[in-house]
Amino acid sequence: MNTIFPKVKKNALPSTESSLKVKNLIDKLYDNEVLDNDEYLFILNNITNKDTDYLFKKGNEKKQVYYGNKVYLRGLIEISNYCKMGCKYCGINYKVDTVERYRLTVDKILKCCEEGYKLGYRTFVIQAGEDSYYTDERLKGMLDQIKAKYPDTRITLSLGERSKESFKALYEAGADRYLLRHETASRRLYEHIHPSFMSFDNRRLCLDNLKEIGYQVGGGFMVGSPTQTNEDLVMDLEYLKELDPHMVGIGPYLCHSDTELAGNMSGTLTETLIMVALVRMILPKSLLPATTALGSLHAIGREKALKVGANVMMPNISPTENRDKYEIYQNKICTTDTSDQCRNCIEARIVGVGHEIDLGVGDYIDFERKEK
Ligand code: SAH
Repeated sequence: MNTIFPKVKKNALPSTESSLKVKNLIDKLYDNEVLDNDEYLFILNNITNKDTDYLFKKGNEKKQVYYGNKVYLRGLIEISNYCKMGCKYCGINYKVDTVERYRLTVDKILKCCEEGYKLGYRTFVIQAGEDSYYTDERLKGMLDQIKAKYPDTRITLSLGERSKESFKALYEAGADRYLLRHETASRRLYEHIHPSFMSFDNRRLCLDNLKEIGYQVGGGFMVGSPTQTNEDLVMDLEYLKELDPHMVGIGPYLCHSDTELAGNMSGTLTETLIMVALVRMILPKSLLPATTALGSLHAIGREKALKVGANVMMPNISPTENRDKYEIYQNKICTTDTSDQCRNCIEARIVGVGHEIDLGVGDYIDFERKEK
């Protein structure tokens, strides 16, 4: 039988019977928005190409309930590739000495916002490696200036793990959302792809703190990380249901040849799409990006993600001259484009698959910001 996940266990059921069971489980997930772990595992262990068509159709159907065919745009600014962390998969971790480091001044960041605002973006995503240069004071100054100039926007930070006090100070200074992928909900896998000084528990604590403070929070994970099993992926689904984040970033692991994990296989398009569709059904109101990693893996990877449940795209508005240095993985798309080229390209891609751009701030449905 042609199953999709390579680490598949042989199942006892004949293929037609197991296919019927997969279909029934997809229907059950669609209705109940949750399954038991052994049911998720059954899907992952047995899903065939034919079943994916059905899963993808249901993922897309679930998205229609709250979002129709709307796709929200976020202007992404990669403000620094300095990083003190050692994620073994990531091409900008502190050990990698083949990448030229850069960081943007607040003035440069504001220029990117100006350009992004003109292009219609009403969310700025400010992402970086864990760079100690960005103290709370510096970030507060940046947030003040962006909020003063563009009060009708949302600011998403994605700057890695920080203390609860720091998260709180940044929220009070105007940050609205925070993206911090949990990377994997399997402690074993987390420890395999991170150095021992990084903490599985602290990553989760950060996510709990962010939620408690009042941020719209984004978790997420990589698909196809070295040694990841279907059981590990089930843990991601279970953890996400429990965390109940507002956003979930799901992308394939893409092997970077200058990292400790060089030589491993990358994740695949189909595996990643399956996880996007499942998460759409588990968290129907979530904002799910069609990730740049998917677009880098496959020419129309992002369009495919939109068709199975994704509803966010994150066009790059970083200065073109810095883009190739934010090389978390190799062969990243859009590194030679200007921001307006990205804007046009993204719109054409979205419209091309029958979706429509929504230039609003694109908050999570029913979300209300906690005030001080
Ligand atoms: N320092 C921030 C931002 C990290 S980069 C933080 O810690 O959250 C954003 C995401 O890129 C990461 O969370 C990770 O899931 C993903 N990423 C990093 N390296 C990658 C790789 N080689 N392949 C695929 N995704 C990768």
